[in-house]
Amino acid sequence: MPNRPDVMDKLVSLCKRRGYIFQSSEIYGGTGSVWDYGPLGVELKRNLQERWWNEMVRSRENVEGLDSAILMHPRVWEASGHVSGFVDPMVDCRNCKKRFRADDPKIKGVPGTPDAQCPACGMKGTLGEPRQFNLMFKTFMGPVEDSASIIYLRPETAQGTYVNFLNVQQSTRQKIPFGIAQIGKAFRNEITPGNFIFRTREFEQMEMQFFVEPGTDMEWFEYWKAERMRWHKGLGLAEDRLQFHQHGETELAHYARAAFDVQFDFGGSLGFQEIEGIHNRGDFDLSQHQKFSGKKLEYFDQGSNKRFVPFVVETAVGPNRTLLALLVNGYREEAVEGEEEGRVVLGLNPALAPIKAGVFPLVKKDGMPEMARKIADDLRPHFPVFYDDSGAIGRRYRRQDEVGTPFCITVDGESAGGNSVTVRDRDTLKQDRVAVGSVRDYIDQRISG
Ligand code: ATP
Repeated sequence: MPNRPDVMDKLVSLCKRRGYIFQSSEIYGGTGSVWDYGPLGVELKRNLQERWWNEMVRSRENVEGLDSAILMHPRVWEASGHVSGFVDPMVDCRNCKKRFRADDPKIKGVPGTPDAQCPACGMKGTLGEPRQFNLMFKTFMGPVEDSASIIYLRPETAQGTYVNFLNVQQSTRQKIPFGIAQIGKAFRNEITPGNFIFRTREFEQMEMQFFVEPGTDMEWFEYWKAERMRWHKGLGLAEDRLQFHQHGETELAHYARAAFDVQFDFGGSLGFQEIEGIHNRGDFDLSQHQKFSGKKLEYFDQGSNKRFVPFVVETAVGPNRTLLALLVNGYREEAVEGEEEGRVVLGLNPALAPIKAGVFPLVKKDGMPEMARKIADDLRPHFPVFYDDSGAIGRRYRRQDEVGTPFCITVDGESAGGNSVTVRDRDTLKQDRVAVGSVRDYIDQRISG
């Protein structure tokens, strides 16, 4: 496997400078591992989410959409196993008050013994015994802050789908096999967040739960594995940066019958990491909710006259982490022939790029700005464009290259006479002369992939 360079620091700076991603509450010194999406970031994230929604929900007869609430009955998280099981063992230092994962390789010695040394302050014997630390954020519902009013911010969207399984099935009259998909926020009080937006405490998930008859689950598991890998390749992620990772016996959650991650090579020391999980969860979730709620969550198959608790095949992908993969995948620095200054390019799939075209007058005279403005205004209702008349044309091209804009339309000396413009391709740098009336079609065709 090629060892790809670490471009994370460069991306963090580019994202801030150009309005992709900002640190949350930056003017107050920032909030740990929480990020805000700026004007370009929000477009890219929306494009990614819409692509997933179109692919997973709208283009499939047997998948329905759902948008369940973040706050749920606290018993949900007892049934799901999150109250007792969603924990990491942690150790605290009595001296510097810092907290570490118990398996942190920087800890020397066994925590809880006099020899153990705190990796932060260096004191010996100050690290306590490992204690279980739950990753769910807790808050209170209503005016009284007591144990009866504890409520959690959901750590995944899937449970909102399970508790609505019958609502969706009965209201849509779907027959098994069918799926329910949703996109929404999830919160995890991660102990070791970091790597920019790779692991954050507030993030989004795009999850689909596919309900199947027991016995057909592995077939569907294979189907979804292939479908999801195809989707990631379609985003434009390089094929040799993508791989499957199969969960071994020790990694497999106790309820999972099989699990594969789609991994992407982020380069540097991060290397291949999960961007999506595909899980065969058996009947664990629906059975647990039956047990804890006392309500039957069975499906009645009229054809075979059978009643059963369906098995679930889940596909769970994070738009934030996938967005990071797209940025890493697309970032390149290259020399330009005949020019001293090189260029930085975000080689995003044109279908996902936040701005589809820059529109420029070559110079600010001879009616060029007016003509360029009119072209930009006419195109804007159809896709995002950016009008720019400041600075040398080369710099304007570079500014669009750096944010991933696939096309630049330039009004030049020939434009008025021939009612045509040049359209420059971000990747090949080739310029085509296109009739003004055909520019929209020309770009539409190339951004529909
Ligand atoms: P990890 O092992 O990296 O913590 P996970 O296996 O717990 O992830 P899942 O619960 O399967 O993750 O969630 C599905 C997807 O949600 C992940 O593949 C990832 O894209 C995204 N995701 C999970 N946790 C985070 C996080 N803290 N920050 C950003 N994205 C996340």
